[in-house]
Amino acid sequence: LNNQDNVNGILVQLPLPKNINEQLILDSIHPDKDADGFHPLNVGKLSIASNNVENLLIPCTPYGCLIMLKGLGIDLSGKNAIVIGRSNIVGKPMAQLLLKKSCTVTIAHSRTKNIEEICKKADIVIAAVGRPKMVKGNWIKKDAVVIDVGINRVDGKLTGDINFETVSKKASYITPVPGGVGPMTIA
Ligand code: NDP
Repeated sequence: LNNQDNVNGILVQLPLPKNINEQLILDSIHPDKDADGFHPLNVGKLSIASNNVENLLIPCTPYGCLIMLKGLGIDLSGKNAIVIGRSNIVGKPMAQLLLKKSCTVTIAHSRTKNIEEICKKADIVIAAVGRPKMVKGNWIKKDAVVIDVGINRVDGKLTGDINFETVSKKASYITPVPGGVGPMTIA
């Protein structure tokens, strides 16, 4: 596929079965055809790029979240942002993108202490954790913008990482699950 002229992009549906070395597969995609932006060269390009990222190959979920934020017309510069989750697929590239837009970014993960207190100071909250309804209304500053990347199946129903019922009472904008980041990512 790397050598075929009629193939422009290659996308590996993750996760792969445990007996396959995922990084080896991702590394073997030609960087120019790396539609997901997971190849180390593209990860590196995102890391060193200046503000302008439009010509790079970037993981689609975080890039879509950035486009959602831009669509709100808010000035991101100087805003406090927290990204909960530090995966290569969502958390880390999301933090990179927000940093490029001059947000002050905190990346939280499973060892972070006082997430709740950090969240309370954030103008922008992005949750990519995989823990149903983890972020609650009393973690959220009034009028914060909240994006819920999480997809969790609980009793056969989809739910996000954000407690929509309580957080939507505080946030100025919030994405629902289902019907938010999921279909945006597919688009
Ligand atoms: P990973 O499992 O790779 O990463 C989860 C991250 O959450 C890790 O960094 C982990 O920390 C952190 N974490 C786990 N528990 C806690 C906790 N109690 N407090 C704080 N941080 C915690 O998941 P992904 O990034 O791949 O996906 C995250 C979620 O987003 C999942 O629900 C997934 O289904 C969803 N998703 C949705 C997409 C969409 O299109 N809407 C696309 C991709 C993912 P640590 O590193 O310390 O283990």
